[in-house]
Amino acid sequence: MSHVFPRHCNATLPTATAGDGCFLIDQDGKRYFDGSGGAAVSCLGHSNARVRDAVKAQVDQMAFAHTSFFTSDPAEQLADLLIEHAPGDLDRVYFVSGGSEAVESAIKLARQFHLENGEPARKHLIARRQSYHGNTIGALSAGGNAWRRQQFAPLLVEMSHIAPCYEYAERPEGESLEDYGQRTANELEAEILRLGPETVMAFIAEPVVGATLGAVPAVPGYFKRIREICDQYGVLLILDEVMCGMGRTGHLYACEADGIAPDILTIAKGLGAGYQPIGAMLCTSQIYNTIAQGTGFFQHGHTYIGHPVAAAAGLAVVQEILENDLIPQVKARGTYLQQQLEARLGQHPHVGDIRGRGLFRGVELVADRDSKTPFDPKYGVAAKIKKAAFAEGLICYPMPGARDGRVGDHILLAPPFIASEAELSGLVDMLA
Ligand code: PLP
Repeated sequence: MSHVFPRHCNATLPTATAGDGCFLIDQDGKRYFDGSGGAAVSCLGHSNARVRDAVKAQVDQMAFAHTSFFTSDPAEQLADLLIEHAPGDLDRVYFVSGGSEAVESAIKLARQFHLENGEPARKHLIARRQSYHGNTIGALSAGGNAWRRQQFAPLLVEMSHIAPCYEYAERPEGESLEDYGQRTANELEAEILRLGPETVMAFIAEPVVGATLGAVPAVPGYFKRIREICDQYGVLLILDEVMCGMGRTGHLYACEADGIAPDILTIAKGLGAGYQPIGAMLCTSQIYNTIAQGTGFFQHGHTYIGHPVAAAAGLAVVQEILENDLIPQVKARGTYLQQQLEARLGQHPHVGDIRGRGLFRGVELVADRDSKTPFDPKYGVAAKIKKAAFAEGLICYPMPGARDGRVGDHILLAPPFIASEAELSGLVDMLA
């Protein structure tokens, strides 16, 4: 009997024993193409020498120094590199161990930014329906998945949720993309006015929605309007790039494609690329200075913030992405993957939509293409595809549909940036 607590209590899983480029290998030597990088984590594949050597060298030199007493070279260098390429005025970095911690930190930072006479003046966070921002209580509160929230409801922080920008499913026929984007963004203004602007601390959204919708970018103009509304009412804009950041969409930071910058930004997953658990929250010096001049410190912290080995891995990952020109490669291979998916699956009677940016692609499955009717959840279509694909040797990331208003089941693809065209075409063959 295994004593490890698995994700699903009844699951019996193979043992992963080795990694080789885009492949994971199990105890029997079976090779699996990592078509989703786990969950958009393994952006450099599973055997990157630069990251491996950086981790080893850092362990040899000094594994851990607590941030109450010390900073470290890898943490300082990684923060410098992230800020050098960051959009807008982001210029402070708070390192954590993963995505939920990054979002939790962002929520607490926003609360503390809005302190008046030591009391939180603005407490309300607005997020979007059908969103996921992590599993700790604050991050779970932000998320707009009713089914994830319901068991924990009494503990959750009060928040409100507006519509996502999900044009395939929610744009009425006859409405232009531009009008749809403006109308959907204006829901934020209506909600701020309903609550009273003096009560709203922040709005959080993913620039390209990953796990819950399946690689759905906003329509052009949506985030520009969101930025305007946040500025007008003094509401902080938090962009959650835990899944879509770090080059995944063909930009180091996903929001570059939308032409805006947030006040707070969260990253994780691709930052450590799976070699180490690391995430980060970036914020502007306006926020940092307000806190420095107020209570003097961000009242938050975890033992492993700024862990030197994790930071050394993150530094090597970002250097590898930038120095090997992987961002343009992600763009080009992303276009190739989209074309392959359209060619093989575009006419399939149960494929409603194929979308995404860079190497972050979603295939939405519907019972009927014309009416976009979802499959009955009792069929568990996405879960069946995941299982069948895994048997074929393909790892892909499924999400069941028809929950929380989502139209269909979907399959999320987020292969490593190093995947060749031949490997991507093999991925599509296996999926098809
Ligand atoms: N935010 C987003 C957008 C995510 O997709 C996830 C995880 O899937 C998280 C936050 C939470 O990250 P973690 O699982 O590392 O805690």
